[in-house]
Amino acid sequence: MGIWAKEIKTIFLFLFTIVIVGSFTELFWPLMFLLLVAIIARQVVQISRFEAWINRGGSKKYPISTGIWEDLYYHVYRIKKNEKRRKKKLSLMIDQFRQSTEALPDAAVVLGINNEIDWSNKAARKVFGLQVSDKGQRIPNLIRHPGFIRYLKSNDYQTSVTIPSPVDHSIILEVRIVPYGAGLRLLLAQDITHLKKMERTRKDFVANVSHELRTPLTVLKGYLETLQDLDDGQSLLLTNSFLQMQGQTERMQHLVDDLLLLTRLETQKKKVDCVDIPALLSQICKEGDDIESDTRRIELTLECSAHIMGEEQELRSAFTNLLGNALKYSPENSLVKLHWYQDANSVVLAITDKGEGITKADIPRITERFYRSEVKRAKKVNGTGLGLAIVKHVLMRHDAYLKIKSELGQGSCFSCHFPINRICEETNGVLPKAGVQ
Ligand code: ADP
Repeated sequence: MGIWAKEIKTIFLFLFTIVIVGSFTELFWPLMFLLLVAIIARQVVQISRFEAWINRGGSKKYPISTGIWEDLYYHVYRIKKNEKRRKKKLSLMIDQFRQSTEALPDAAVVLGINNEIDWSNKAARKVFGLQVSDKGQRIPNLIRHPGFIRYLKSNDYQTSVTIPSPVDHSIILEVRIVPYGAGLRLLLAQDITHLKKMERTRKDFVANVSHELRTPLTVLKGYLETLQDLDDGQSLLLTNSFLQMQGQTERMQHLVDDLLLLTRLETQKKKVDCVDIPALLSQICKEGDDIESDTRRIELTLECSAHIMGEEQELRSAFTNLLGNALKYSPENSLVKLHWYQDANSVVLAITDKGEGITKADIPRITERFYRSEVKRAKKVNGTGLGLAIVKHVLMRHDAYLKIKSELGQGSCFSCHFPINRICEETNGVLPKAGVQ
């Protein structure tokens, strides 16, 4: 029988007794009143006992009671017990998580909504010089490196920032912020001193080797030219050998020059001037046309007269590389178009050709050093595989980026996008009418 039915049955039993006794005596209403008072008094006592028990935490053994109240006590006691078990499990899990993150070699700091420290692991305390007592302190007050502050404020945490450790400047840290939950962030830092050292060694090695190769190459080239001058053309084998040697030394010279340029781009401080891009492009196109044989293949459209803050030599070498590629990888009589224009967010140089195009798989890879796509060509096209790596580096140093659109067999469009804030005085916009040169 249900607990409610039992309760109701008891009340009805009392009511029935009162009706019987009341029909023989005059006591029906007083007895009825007494029954009501008794029921209310019982409920009040039970409620106050229940409240006292809940106030004590409700998890200890509940007082002995009967009927619906026993059921109520039992259910609440069970819920409380389950909750206690869950809490215990959760705190065990948190303890284990903290112990494991404490043992992590990488620094981890949990930041609150206002960049205050919620928790930090042992590695974080070591590399950032934090104390356990720094809990609640705002992180920008403790890590004051400008690069870090800029990164923290940027709210763009797709990338990371490299900073020296505030405790020991010889330690280089790669810091990354990972947002999670509602406004919470996890700050992770990895010691990359070793990687930086290796990178430095690689750069030094390439720079030294390229530099050391320069002199022997110049000597070789010099002797080769003398020998070619002395060649009377009697021996075809000798003449061909000289031509081969000349081709190969030139190739090596290009390689060494490109490697040295890349090293310079990686190591040298940036110089900035206001560069007259339309003039620079006109000059590059003229040089390109001069090198090309009889047909005029280059068409330059200067839709905008914007000058750019940057380093002229670097920009010249990037644009020359792109134009050189467009000419190299397209048929001898096809047109290569250069377009300098401004859109809502950037100033763009687009170089379009109707050449061999690039496969979808190759597009992301062609800016890697020494990567050359393997296309079957009618004639061999010389190259070092460093041209686009140079372009990428130069653009990076100008806060710009390279976009490549290409269709195999149809042609390619390489566009350099410079941010508008790079435009420098002298000009501020669009030419009165588009000029095609
Ligand atoms: P290189 O031209 O010296 O081989 P780059 O770094 O300039 O080196 O170019 C890398 C590769 O990208 C080239 O080998 C070529 O396959 C491809 N490439 C570059 N520009 C073009 C282009 N305009 N059309 C087709 N393929 C291109």
